[in-house]
This record gives sequence, C-alpha cells and structure tokens, in this order.
Amino acid sequence: MRCPFCGNTDTQVKDSRPAEDHVAIRRRRFCPSCGGRFTTYERVQLRDLVVVKKNGKREDFDRDKLARSIRMALQKRPIEADRIEQLISGIVRRLESMGEADIDSAKIGEIVMDTMARIDTVAYVRFASVYKNFQAADDFEEFVKELRPPEPKEED
Ligand SMILES: [Zn+2]
Repeated sequence: MRCPFCGNTDTQVKDSRPAEDHVAIRRRRFCPSCGGRFTTYERVQLRDLVVVKKNGKREDFDRDKLARSIRMALQKRPIEADRIEQLISGIVRRLESMGEADIDSAKIGEIVMDTMARIDTVAYVRFASVYKNFQAADDFEEFVKELRPPEPKEED
C-alpha cells in the first residue's frame, strides 16, 4: 500500500482488526520512510460500479470520493468516525445491490440524502436545502463543496 504522504510503496501494517461489525478489516499502517501513519479498510467488493453523470459522462465509481464527500458534509457533527464509515459502507452496499452496474449520479445523491435523513437531521437539512437549489447536481463532490461548514459547536 502506497504511503499517501511520501509515495513510498513499502509500508508496514502495525495492527489489523475487524471493524463495522466484521464487515471490514481496519489496518493501521506505518511508513518507515517518512514516519507517516494512516488507516486502510479492507472490504468485499461485490461488483464494479460505473457512475453515469448528467452529461452522460461515465466514470468508475470511487468509494473514496463518496467517503470524502460524506465526511465533509458531516464535519463537526457529533458522529463517530466508525459510524460514518459504517454509513458509507451501507450506501455502497445499497448501490451494489441495486442490480445495475451503471448508476446515475443523481441516484447516488438521493441515496446519500436518504441515509443522512436517518443519521443526522442537521446535516440532512443543510444537505437537502443546497441540493434543491443546486441546478447542476452533476458531480456529487462538486455539489458537496457548495455546503457551508457547520457552525462550531461548544462542548460543555
Ligand atoms: Zn511515507
């Protein structure tokens, strides 16, 4: 696994354990060349998905891209990292089990909104209001960039 910090391909696994109720294996990795630490998740991939954008362009479904968008939308919300990983996996499983290899980007947006609604009301409302006014809801990542980061919340 290539180090995301320095590009070195010779990284070490320091710790492996089941995550997300045994749906994934979480590995803590260490890069001896730069000292960087990062985490990877290993999961079953049921099928290769292709995202069809509004303009007809097709690209391979990128789980990391979806995950980044969702983490961005849930920034500073009181939801544990493991829970967020779990919900991302849930979304991916829903996409995979739709029975089609091609999935419209708008459909992905819908499923994410649906999931958000059940997880976090604040994130959902923020999400939904932007989504409704977003004319070119073409690229999901572009769409999420339109979201304003939430106000910092003071903890007691
Ligand atoms: Zn490194």
